[in-house]
Amino acid sequence: MTLTGIPASPGIAIGTAFLFYDETEAGTGNKTIGSIDPYAEINKLEEAMRTVERELTGFVEKSKNVGDAAQADILNSHIYILRDPEIVSEAKRFITEEKMRAEDAYTAAIRETAEIFAGMDDDPYLQERAKDIEDVGNRVTRKLTGVQTQDLSNLPPNTIVVARELKPSDTATLDRNHVIGFATDTGGATSHTAILAKAAGLVAVVGAGDMSPQIKNGEMLILDGTYGIIIVNPDSATLGSYKEKQTAHLDRTEYLKKLAQLPCVTSSGKRIILAANIGSEQEVEEAAKNGADAIGLFRTEFLYLDRDSAPDEEEQFLIYKFVLERMGNKPVIVRTLDIGGDKEIPYLGLPREENPFLGARALRLCFMYPEIFRTQIRALLRASVFGTLEIMFPMVQSVEEIEEAKKFLGDCKHELAAEGKGFAKEIRVGIMIEIPAAAIISDELARHCDFFSIGTNDLTQYTLAADRGNKAVAKLYNPFHPAVLKLIKTTIDSAHKHGIPCGMCGEFAGNPEAIPLLLEYGLDEFSMSAALIPATKDIIMNGECQKKEPGNSSV
Ligand code: PEP
Ligand code: MG
Repeated sequence: MTLTGIPASPGIAIGTAFLFYDETEAGTGNKTIGSIDPYAEINKLEEAMRTVERELTGFVEKSKNVGDAAQADILNSHIYILRDPEIVSEAKRFITEEKMRAEDAYTAAIRETAEIFAGMDDDPYLQERAKDIEDVGNRVTRKLTGVQTQDLSNLPPNTIVVARELKPSDTATLDRNHVIGFATDTGGATSHTAILAKAAGLVAVVGAGDMSPQIKNGEMLILDGTYGIIIVNPDSATLGSYKEKQTAHLDRTEYLKKLAQLPCVTSSGKRIILAANIGSEQEVEEAAKNGADAIGLFRTEFLYLDRDSAPDEEEQFLIYKFVLERMGNKPVIVRTLDIGGDKEIPYLGLPREENPFLGARALRLCFMYPEIFRTQIRALLRASVFGTLEIMFPMVQSVEEIEEAKKFLGDCKHELAAEGKGFAKEIRVGIMIEIPAAAIISDELARHCDFFSIGTNDLTQYTLAADRGNKAVAKLYNPFHPAVLKLIKTTIDSAHKHGIPCGMCGEFAGNPEAIPLLLEYGLDEFSMSAALIPATKDIIMNGECQKKEPGNSSV
């Protein structure tokens, strides 16, 4: 029997099915018949929440210890969901006003919040967040009712877990030594379970419909995570052919792993810098593992998300120090805060805007809120002595903005010097080219900075007037459009004319079809998600990919 689903994490796993039944929703969310003691119920709820927080904190630590940054991030976000004051006060209101038992009250409060997210039907990312909220809810209600789940932490070798759904807290306990993959009925390519599978190197197929009821415990399975195929009890010919595919996949993985440690040089002898984009200090491990020559973009705004208040100077200093030290003498380009646009930070209480992508975003916002900017720049300067820091300003559109940002940087240096605090003598300062105006006047801008990095994600949306997150105009959002390519080429030429390097940190840099074109334009540095680095290196060194002609279709 062959079943299909969505490919979530590539590779081929051949093993034995273990059916996982999830005891969801230990609470009913209904009113309780009979009387309750509200104080006792609130105490029970608070105790259960404390226990869950301890458990989740333990899982975060465990994930960090095994170098699984993705899992640590997701479980961390669960701690924030758990602490969400609105959910907690709603659950307490259900207890005191509706006279519900703690588990029912908490289930009802969780459901209300999860339904808001699940209802955002044009945004799969937010829909997936509903799953995280339910996951936290189930964890707490299970504590309250004592309902146990199956143990996933101790399974026989070569196990393939089959489930209706696997929640992040289920995958957190997965026996990494013996589980080789999983298949689920629900979930999409961007689901947390898919992200976790990739990060853990497990083969995974998700969204396979009514697959799990058709599989029995102990049956032999082939899981093809590259094409989203699940074969139950394969015949010997199928098994033989998949064993060959498995060997080929492992060989390729091994080859790419070796390649990761070699310098990236084109056939004409040009050294290309392959860098990683990161959004947290945990991701630096993945960058190093994949052979990144540098961090080409540290999206620092992510440090501000999923929390109740902004990270202070000390917290930021420790994060930047950690990344700089881990990268040794390799450059780390830290982009200053790019809040605004699609990245909202509720606790900053910033005014709502009609057109946030064209509004007070990134550097503009930093100038408007100098205290926020100052905290970050001071933290960066103090950390600079621990490695090779480069500072990059986002959303620049004029020479005046570069001058103002550099003046701000200079003032912070004076301040620190006066306090007797050290910072590196040489800190290169660059800008992102992501506004068409900046690309057009790049010849002028190049005189005022040490490097460029092209942000094609925004450059494409602004050049083509097509919102990068709007599905309705996804076809128009095409970085191969001749206008975008012309701006890329102009920017690279301007940089070289003034003797500064030009990188790219938008998604286009990791697009295999774009790479030959970008090499031809003379791009010096390609920065992308760490996992893409080895395959990109293969394309650059061995020319595995066909060049795509400008404009011929959208991506
Ligand atoms: C870009 O715009 O290409 C970029 C790298 O920045 P972000 O995606 O964070 O806006
Ligand atoms: Mg951008």
